[in-house]
Amino acid sequence: MIDLDPIQPICIAGHWRHGSGDLYHSLYPATGEAIARLHAASLADVEEAILGADRAFRASGWAQRKPHERAAVLYRVAALIREHSEALAQLQRLDNGKPIQETRSLVASAAATFQFFAAACETLEDTLTPSRGDFLTLSVHEPMGVVAAITPWNSPIASEAQKLAPALAAGNAVVLKPAEVTPLAALALARICDDAGLPRGLVSVLPGKGSVIGDALVRHPLVRRVSFTGGTRTGKHIARIAADKMMPVSMELGGKSPTLVLADADLDHAVAGVLYGIFSSSGESCIAGSRLFVARQHYAPFMERLAAGAAALRVGDPADERTQMGPLITAQHRESVERYVELGLQEGGRLRTGGRRPQGEVFDRGYFYTPTIIEGLSNDARLCQEEVFGPVLVAMPFDSEDALLEEANASCYALAAGIWTRDFQRAWRLGRALQAGTVWINTYKQFSIATPFGGWRDSGLGREKGRLGILQYMEQKSLYWGLNEQPLAWAGGQR
Ligand code: NAD
Repeated sequence: MIDLDPIQPICIAGHWRHGSGDLYHSLYPATGEAIARLHAASLADVEEAILGADRAFRASGWAQRKPHERAAVLYRVAALIREHSEALAQLQRLDNGKPIQETRSLVASAAATFQFFAAACETLEDTLTPSRGDFLTLSVHEPMGVVAAITPWNSPIASEAQKLAPALAAGNAVVLKPAEVTPLAALALARICDDAGLPRGLVSVLPGKGSVIGDALVRHPLVRRVSFTGGTRTGKHIARIAADKMMPVSMELGGKSPTLVLADADLDHAVAGVLYGIFSSSGESCIAGSRLFVARQHYAPFMERLAAGAAALRVGDPADERTQMGPLITAQHRESVERYVELGLQEGGRLRTGGRRPQGEVFDRGYFYTPTIIEGLSNDARLCQEEVFGPVLVAMPFDSEDALLEEANASCYALAAGIWTRDFQRAWRLGRALQAGTVWINTYKQFSIATPFGGWRDSGLGREKGRLGILQYMEQKSLYWGLNEQPLAWAGGQR
């Protein structure tokens, strides 16, 4: 659906043209080859996109359309994503190197997200509140205007849909800044929005450096809301700017999620779940189950099976249907993961498996790294506290449930957690006591667009998804409608 040969135009205020920033290449992480060339957006492009978005918000009539009419356009977006699903999955694979099986699911999720928020849009209800006087009271919701959406590189099409769909459903205009290294899915989504009949200018896509383009977007006075997914440090920086503007933000940030394998767990399920939880997406996942706690009496046999399972994972060509783990996103990111592994070993950790670049022709040019497990650290080691964002698991035994809970919760992050146990009362107890935005019990990394998602503490602010996710992009307003037959009494009822 996108011809990658020519220099890619970007979408600025309804016009497809080259960005006026520097020319750069988007690389395929499996080979390091350039797959697309494009000019980044410049600060002048940011200004143009925001002014265009504001104009489209005020003049296109989008916000004033009946909810079912807005929904109809979003249903068309979902249908077009499905129609082009294989092309989009291949594009996403080239853009960030995820295995094709996984990018197909991301595309399916993007379509489902548009469908879900189309439905949320046409079924959203305002409220008639109990009135306490001679007036009718209503609570209604209004769109905000220009929304900035800023996304990371790890699951572009899904995270971009997760912001675009509710923000548009709510009646807003959106200026989307994808990660510099993965611009293609966002551009494809903007094309699809055009084809579906969304008014021009309502969506702009500005690839480019976060510290320049993203920063300018957040600071712009016409931007009324920011929806950010990315690292905690960037999120805090954006939140500080937003505080000065008194602008609402939502933040989907980093994680260091604990997985708890209790003594009574079904070990087959737990081994499969832990492997999937940390090593799918090459560990480049905010919800990766990267800290593992296993009941001491099962620790040795469990780790035996887990290490064998990790070593047997199929790392390789993302285009191969059987591949489970592709490359990491960039050479620099792989170096960062390697530094973390070295740090863990310097801190006293022992390498159980992995900890190296795989060998062989298919791996020569890409940024591959083997599934890695490190043992022997305590929970306060830096490797157990900092987000690696790669295929690196730290494993620790535990002796008592109290100590387990204390350690599992001892993190600045609180995004997700997993529990493996057959005891439903224990699952309930631990599930309620774990501090995290999402807790999976006897499963991991499963998602429903109907269920709110977000983190506590350094893992974020606000919730995406869920039927009420659309309200994140709306201002609430109370309407009082006077029904008095007489003038208000305070002025003596004077006529
Ligand atoms: P990042 O914070 O470096 O970048 C994220 C986005 O912010 C990019 O588009 C980037 O260009 C932009 N950006 C960078 N500096 C900016 C600035 N000063 N102002 C405005 N925008 C700026 O993160 P990343 O490396 O792209 O992604 C990895 C991180 O994202 C990890 O920490 C991961 O846990 C997190 N993440 C969280 C979730 C979630 O839902 N909680 C999902 C995916 C990824």
